[in-house]
This record gives sequence, C-alpha cells and structure tokens, in this order.
Amino acid sequence: MNIATLPVVSRDNLRDAILSHLAYSFGKTPETAQTQDWRMALSYAVRDRMVEAWFDATRRTYDAGAKRVYYLSMEFLIGRLLEDGIVNLQLLDQARGALDELGLDFANIVGDEPDAALGNGGLGRLAACFLESLSTLGCPAMGYGIRYEHGLFQQSFAEGRQMEAPETWLLQRHAWEFERPESRYRIGFGGSVSDEAGKAVWTPAVEVDAEAFDTPIAGWQGKWVNTLRLWSARAVHPFDLDSFNRGDFEGAAQPEALARTISRVLYPDDTTEQGKELRLKQEFFFTAAALRDILRRFDSEYDDPGLLPSKVAVQLNDTHPAIAGPELVRLLHDERGLPFDDAMGIAQGCLNYTNHTLLPEALETWSEGVFGKLLPRHLQIVDRIDDAHAKANPSRSLSIRADHQVHMGELSFIMANRVNGVSALHTGLMKETVFEELHALHPEKIVNQTNGVTPRRWLLSCNPRLSSLITDTISDGWVADLERLQELEPHVDDAAWSDRYAEAKRANKADLASWLSDTHGLKVDPEAIFDIQIKRMHEYKRQHLNILEAIAHWQEIKDNPSADWTPRVKIFAGKAAPGYFFAKDIIRLINDVARVVNADPETRDKLEVIFLPNYNVTLAERLIPAADLSEQISTAGKEASGTGNMKFALNGAPTVGTLDGANVEIRERVGAENFFLFGMTADEVDARRAVEDHARKAIEADPRLARALKAIGDGVFSANEPDRYANIVENLSGHDYFLVCSDFSDYWRAQREVDAAFADRSAWTRMAALNTARSGWFSSDRTIRGYMADIWDAKGLV
Ligand SMILES: *Cc1c(COP(=O)(O)O)cnc(C)c1O
Repeated sequence: MNIATLPVVSRDNLRDAILSHLAYSFGKTPETAQTQDWRMALSYAVRDRMVEAWFDATRRTYDAGAKRVYYLSMEFLIGRLLEDGIVNLQLLDQARGALDELGLDFANIVGDEPDAALGNGGLGRLAACFLESLSTLGCPAMGYGIRYEHGLFQQSFAEGRQMEAPETWLLQRHAWEFERPESRYRIGFGGSVSDEAGKAVWTPAVEVDAEAFDTPIAGWQGKWVNTLRLWSARAVHPFDLDSFNRGDFEGAAQPEALARTISRVLYPDDTTEQGKELRLKQEFFFTAAALRDILRRFDSEYDDPGLLPSKVAVQLNDTHPAIAGPELVRLLHDERGLPFDDAMGIAQGCLNYTNHTLLPEALETWSEGVFGKLLPRHLQIVDRIDDAHAKANPSRSLSIRADHQVHMGELSFIMANRVNGVSALHTGLMKETVFEELHALHPEKIVNQTNGVTPRRWLLSCNPRLSSLITDTISDGWVADLERLQELEPHVDDAAWSDRYAEAKRANKADLASWLSDTHGLKVDPEAIFDIQIKRMHEYKRQHLNILEAIAHWQEIKDNPSADWTPRVKIFAGKAAPGYFFAKDIIRLINDVARVVNADPETRDKLEVIFLPNYNVTLAERLIPAADLSEQISTAGKEASGTGNMKFALNGAPTVGTLDGANVEIRERVGAENFFLFGMTADEVDARRAVEDHARKAIEADPRLARALKAIGDGVFSANEPDRYANIVENLSGHDYFLVCSDFSDYWRAQREVDAAFADRSAWTRMAALNTARSGWFSSDRTIRGYMADIWDAKGLV
C-alpha cells in the first residue's frame, strides 16, 4: 500500500476498533472491562495503524537495495508508548473523542501504561530518541537490545532513605511487541577451541536461544516505521523430562530458569563497571544474536560479503556491544572461511562506536580470566586484532589486551570506522585524554555528534500548551524541522504573544502543583520559581552542591526574613545505583533537609525542597514543561553531553550551569545573557585539583559555605543522629574530588542573579521564550542526520 492512501481514521473508526479489540483480542465487554483492558484495546487499535507502514518500509528498503543502520544498545529507556504513538499518528483528537464517547478519561487510560524502563538514564534515553528520529527521517534502521524482564528498579523512600523494589513492567502486559518464535539464534558460551586442519573450531560448553520480540517504532506522521528488536533468552531444551520422570521437578525446570537469567534484569548502575560475568554474558548474548540476524538479512539479498560495509552500518552505543568486533570477525573468518585480514577489514568497515564517558571508573574492562572462560575464541581473536593493529602501526605502544585485562574502549576504537563523542567539548577531551594515542594514529576516526532529543515526545506531546502556541504562531512545520522555532524570535517582544507564552508556563506549573498535592500531599506556590534538578544521582552531577546552596539560602532567609526573597521551590528526582552509598547518602540528606526546611514557618513561603521518588521518563515529561530553571551543575569535564539540559531549554527553562557537555553549545545558541553561567572550566578544574587543600581554602573563603557545612555536621537535619552525614562533610571538606566547595561561591552568586532576574517577570518570560526559540538545533533529527552523513553514509527513504 502506498503511504498516500493510508486511510484517514475518524473518531468513530477508532471507537469501533477499540470495541472490537476489547471483544476479540481481550474477551471483555465494556461492562466487564478494567482500565488495563481499555488501555490494551486502545493500544492495539493504534498499533494496527502502524502495521501497513511498517510492511511498506521493509518493502521499500528491499526494493531500493538501501543501506541499513543497526543501533546496538544495552539500554533503551523508552517510557510509555501509547501517547507517543497517538501523537505521531496524529490521532489525539480522535482518541480523546472516542474515549469520551465510551465514558473514559484519556489521561487515566494512557496513564495506566507502565514505563518501559529498559535503561538507566541518558544513554538509554538517547537510544530511544534516536529510534524515533530514525523513523521520522525514513532511515532504514533497526534497534537491537535486551528484553529485560525487570527494568530499572522502582525507588521509594523510607525515612528519607532510598528503597529499591523490582520493576515488573511485563506483568502489567505490554501492548507493543510482536513475539517472533521463528526468529531464534543459538548463542554459545565457554567451552574450548580446537584446531582442525588449521581452522579454529569453537565448541561452547553452554548454549541458550535468543528469541526476538519486535516493537514497531513509528516516526512523525507514521510515514515510516522501523523495528526495535529485543532478545529474550530461552533454554535450548526448555524442560528436562528425564529429571521430571525421576521426580526431580525443580531440576526439570532448571535449564529454562538458568537460561532466562541472562535477560532477567537490567544492571542498575550507569557509571561504574563491576566486571560481573553475567553482564558479559548479556553483552555477548544480544550482540551475537543481532549480528547473526544482520548477516541472515544481508545473505537474503547479497552473495558477496565484501559488500557488507556498503550495505550495513552498525552503531555501538558505548562499549557494551564491543564484542561485536571479534564476533563479526569470527563469523566471517571461522564460520565463512574469509581470510582473517579481509574479515577484520570488513568488520571495521561496518562498525562504529559512540563513547559516552571519560570517567575512568566507567571505562569497561574485563579480566582475561573471565573473558577467556566465557569467550575463549574471542580472546584469541582479540590477540590477532592486536597483532594486526601493531603490524599496521609499528609506532604504537598500546594494546587491547594489557595488564591482564581486555580493554573494551580500545577494542571498540580499533574495530570502528568512526568513533564519536556526544558534544563538542566531550569529543575534544576524548582526543586529549582517553584516546590520545589512538587519535594520533587514526586522526580521521573521531568525529563529534552532539546529542539531541526528539521534539515529538519532549515538546509536542509533553507540553501541549506551548506546542499549541508555537503552532498558532508559526504553523506546524517545526515538529519535523525544529530549527524553525527561530521564527518565534520576532514575537518575543510582542507583549500579547509574550503573555500567552507566560500563560502556558503558568498553567503547566498549576497542573504540576495540583498533581503534587493530589499524589504526594505537597503544597507548592505556583508563583514561586520552580527550580528543578532531575537526573541520576552522582557526585559528578553534584546534587550535593544544589542542596548545600539550598541550606545556605535557608539560613540567609532566616537571618533576614522580611527581605524581598524570590520564592523558590527546589525539586529533585533521581535514582542512585543500589551499591553507590555516597549517592544514597545525598538522597537521604536532601530528604532530611526538605523535612526541616519545609516545616519552618519562618521560611515556608520563601523556600521549599522536594525530592520526588522514582524518577523515570514519565516523571520527566510531567516536570520539564513546568520548570522555570534547569539545574545542570556538573563538574566541568565530567558530563559527556547531557540531554536533560536540552529538554529544559526547549521547554523554556533557562539553565543555571557550568561549561560542561552540551551546556556549552546550549549557551552559545540561546545566548550568554539567557544562561546563568557559573563555575570553573574543565581546564580550571584540573588546575584547582592540583591546589593543596583546595576544599578547606574554599570553605575558609566563604562563610556561607562554612555555615551550611557546619549545620549538616551539627545534625541540624538529623537531630536524632547528628553524625549521620559525617561522611559527606568529611568528603567535602577534605578530598572533594568533584570540587563542590570550590564552585560554591560562584554558584551562590549565579542563583542570586536568578532570583533578581525572575523578579522581573516579563524579562524572564522573554529569556524563557528565547531559550525555546533558539533550541531547535538540539533535535535528535539533527543528530541523526549527522550520523547518517558523517558516520553511516545512509539515506532516508521518505
Ligand atoms: C533525559 C533523561 C535522562 C538524562 O538526563 P541528564 O540530565 O542528561 O543526565 C535521564 N533519565 C531520564 C528519565 C530522562 O528522561
């Protein structure tokens, strides 16, 4: 079917489709249906509208002999898909109308969908935005990952402390996937390698099956639909009948349980590498299945493996799928008999690698022992890659295998055609630090692709009021061409328009205030500045800098309660890795500060502190449209890019931030006068760290900082356990690796500038509107166009 003839869907069509699915897919009548049944019926009705375009995209890709892009990622932080699908298919009015007619509440039905939280944070959310942009641009592409039974843990607080509970999204039924029992690959682990007539033969000790589950990903207007293919681990022989017949019922079920462990749970740590064997199993499991699938599809169209680099581009999202290098060489050399150098060259022509972090503790390495035990043949291939690279580059001194470790960053770099960083600053630092030597050998390999976010989810869908104003002003072309937001600029000085902009923000804040009241029993003043820091909890992101400033602010208000303070509501949200005790202490401190500060009648209407539990995509969509101020305060040089910063700027929340990651580019685009800059630069950070006693000196120089730290140390926020935060105080006044103290004074200054700026409401609105008008470049459509042109050499087909 041709796209142009896709049937228009009326409200009545949609209502009939919902009722039909309710009856025939779920066996319910409207009288017996629960919210979940209605949600599933609506989801199926929407999903049906994607299927024709999905088939069509596949057909057109084959017909054009087009190059395909494969995005391999350990994480896809998708969030909910129902509203996203409805918005992209432009069915919002019809869906609301149909539900209305059925006596159902739209928000209630879409709110029933669990978040697909198959990722930790920015890296996984980037992968999800990329999938949506790939479809919007009509780029033939497929995402590959793991279908975790349990996504990122659910967070709650008990007396301020983080509690973790398993996440169970699949128990609530998943509307979007198609199980593909026929798409199965056998994946081996362990065993030995033998030499048979000069040919290496790997005989794995254990095998599991990877079974595919496909989710259609519709782009804007549903013109193109790609696939997210997630692998689930299954036992080769699901049930051991012999054991069962012997009466060993547990033993009988064991093969299945053991196999399933591989896709059971997402590792909940986004920045430290623990080197656990199960993690390496997960990495090999999904990467090997993806490569087998890619080659099968290639073989169905072409005979000559030499064509692979011109027909296939594989993107490795961080080093987690780095085993793709050795595995592709193994498939081509061991299994298909290509000469080793040819196999390696072909692999290098297909693979590309995105680096996401310079934090040393996050750079992935595996001990030779674990690696060799699980992947004996791959360890040999790593050595041959090392040899080949050494031969071609005699001056080099580094190797992938060094210090009894396999270094996945070096492996990814050497096996990649292109290596990219995720912001201009980060890419520059990559060249100077982690990959300095490899960059000198291969100066053409490293390119920059500054991250982006999809405007469909992060503006059109999450902020309907602002979206309507934009569309009323410049028509709707911005949705697929976000840089057209520039056309808003002439309107920012028009008082009537500016009032409408301010009204949208005010209404969003009022919505958030009533939600906070209804669901958390919190009362907030919608006139206050909504100051928001939401992201994973990490020392480098410096939530503790934010809470220290809040404490100092509280103390200062108490000193002078009748002064003209700008009322502020500080909102935090974020999960800490379960084993990251310092980050968990910061959460508890923020909760303790919130309890004390919010109960203080002297300051109550001037300052409020809130930590919302269970940060996820849905909470981000709720908070960001209501934000006045975006906190992006990482230690310069540590945040590779950030994407939260982009979502806020786009939704009209100016940034208070350091020159880190994409903040640098945001500030360049929105204008320095519309960005509250503070803190040391990456270079200054390095110099400051070399100063002896830098933290103590900073504390001595700033009485506000000293007093805030003293309050924590004295137990002002933990009266029944005064030394609860001794660890934090000791860290900050001693080593303070992330330079919280050294940046404090300038942060305080910037925050008081924010207060003053916010007090002039029309100037503030202008600044917010300019943030929206000038953030169009941060669309993930722009990022994906960059990957297509500079990395993949791929073309869109719409
Ligand atoms: C955007 C997003 C992130 C990334 O936020 P940063 O501030 O860039 O770290 C993490 N988690 C969720 C749920 C997001 O939506």
